[in-house]
Amino acid sequence: MNGNDVIILGGGSGGLATAGRLKELLGDKVNITIIDRESSFVMGFSLLRVMKGEKTGEEVGVPKEKISQKGIRFVNSEVAQIDTTTKKNVVTTSKEEFSYDYLVIALGAELAPEKVPGFESAFHMYTLEDAKRLRDALSSFRGGSLRLIVSSTPFKCPAAPYEAAMLIDDHLRRKGLRDKSDIQIFTPEPLPMPVAGPVVGNAVVSMLSEKGIGFHNNTKVSSIEGGSKQVVFENGLREKYDLLIAVPPHTSPKVVRESCLADASGWVPVDLKKMQTKHDKVYAIGDVAAVKLQSGTMLPKAATFAFGQAEIVASNIASSILGTETRSWDGFGECFIETGSGKAAYGSGSFYSSPKPVINMQMPSKELRERKDAWGDYWTRRLVA
Ligand SMILES: Cc1cc2nc3c(=O)[nH]c(=O)nc-3n(C[C@H](O)[C@H](O)[C@H](O)COP(=O)(O)OP(=O)(O)OC[C@H]3O[C@@H](n4cnc5c(N)ncnc54)[C@H](O)[C@@H]3O)c2cc1C
Repeated sequence: MNGNDVIILGGGSGGLATAGRLKELLGDKVNITIIDRESSFVMGFSLLRVMKGEKTGEEVGVPKEKISQKGIRFVNSEVAQIDTTTKKNVVTTSKEEFSYDYLVIALGAELAPEKVPGFESAFHMYTLEDAKRLRDALSSFRGGSLRLIVSSTPFKCPAAPYEAAMLIDDHLRRKGLRDKSDIQIFTPEPLPMPVAGPVVGNAVVSMLSEKGIGFHNNTKVSSIEGGSKQVVFENGLREKYDLLIAVPPHTSPKVVRESCLADASGWVPVDLKKMQTKHDKVYAIGDVAAVKLQSGTMLPKAATFAFGQAEIVASNIASSILGTETRSWDGFGECFIETGSGKAAYGSGSFYSSPKPVINMQMPSKELRERKDAWGDYWTRRLVA
């Protein structure tokens, strides 16, 4: 050990971005290992492409092993235990133990469908397999009541359910089934993407409304009755459906919840500027991190934040090794919201603005949808090519 062993837990958006940037900054001065149970990387937004049948599972998955070409070790293993007490600094996997000088936790969020009784009757696009199941269900859907529910917050990508609804609207129009279909969204949120503020939220509600998609806020599911095809909400409302799409509840990964790094919520609190946990040289980035904004709300879970945080953590590990100045994250985030018909809207700004985030919104255009594709291609190439 040369004092420069960096272990990155999780080879998703944040973990891969950190590893690549660190290698660029330090070359052979650092030994980087990424540990992940999944061998293939898929950008979250590509799941919407699979759902729509525009891309196959094979087209959107890239082997994580490819990062070994950059001199980064990839270990395809389950992280079983994280011990960040100063004496040990050890991570245990299903195969071996790893000690570290710097640890980056980028284990994302776990899906917990079991939290909603009857969830198995619903479809969703939160994993590749589930996106394929939803694609098949949509392709055999002949019209009727399509209900889209958000089970609970937080969930990955605040825009994703609304994008899914608008893309499905587009799909049904193309198939001549829109007149026979009724699309309604139910969510416990007050507005879509509430952290971005009412201007953005109301703009999304207007986009939905223009397409005839109903939006029902502050409504939380309590169970799904697959036999009678009904969703039961906590307020007693019952909603019949022919096709049900549901964003599954999310939790922090079990191994994180069981570590001493998590707070009562299960996520890992970090300092806003450096993503440092309560332990020195241990960082948490991306969906697993709990970042409390000045407005009192939590930073949403999205790759755009994982990328920005990865840049800062990589840069600061390099500074620590080279003895140079550290940097702070500015809380910038951006989001392309797909609206169907080959168009996307775009929101961007600083989530660290005080007293609340300042997000600017550009209305849907074909050019913005092309920029979304370019954004996705750029990051996929950068992370694993
Ligand atoms: C449909 C959809 C659309 C989306 N669209 C966008 C978008 O347009 N823009 C955007 O910014 N974000 C989008 N996202 C969100 C984005 O994908 C996530 O926020 C982002 O991937 C988070 O990065 P991360 O590194 O924190 O976690 P992840 O990318 O989820 O990586 C976590 C990794 O940890 C691994 N892992 C977890 N536990 C263990 C363990 N115990 N042992 C080993 N490995 C483990 C997992 O296998 C995974 O590879 C979308 C998500 C979805 C589902």
